[in-house]
Amino acid sequence: MKGKAVRLDDDFCPNCAAKLSAASVAFGPKAKPKEGDPTLCVYCLEFAIFGPGLKLRKTTEIELRLTLDLEQYEHFAATREGLRAAKARYGMN
Ligand SMILES: [Zn+2]
Repeated sequence: MKGKAVRLDDDFCPNCAAKLSAASVAFGPKAKPKEGDPTLCVYCLEFAIFGPGLKLRKTTEIELRLTLDLEQYEHFAATREGLRAAKARYGMN
């Protein structure tokens, strides 16, 4: 992913319940996520959406396709596939 990680209030992945306290910004070098932005959990590699107060909620592939333009969606999908390959190869958790 491009960009620096930004610190966020502690929250939990709505898919795997892992504690998350930072996000790497995919589309801007210093931008902070805002409500409606998607994110990818580095633990379970499932997508989530920042809701009100930047609390994470579950999302669906259909919602992501409607939220992101094609380039952004392909970037997220490629990032997930890259992380899956790295976890499979190196056994990362
Ligand atoms: Zn997760």
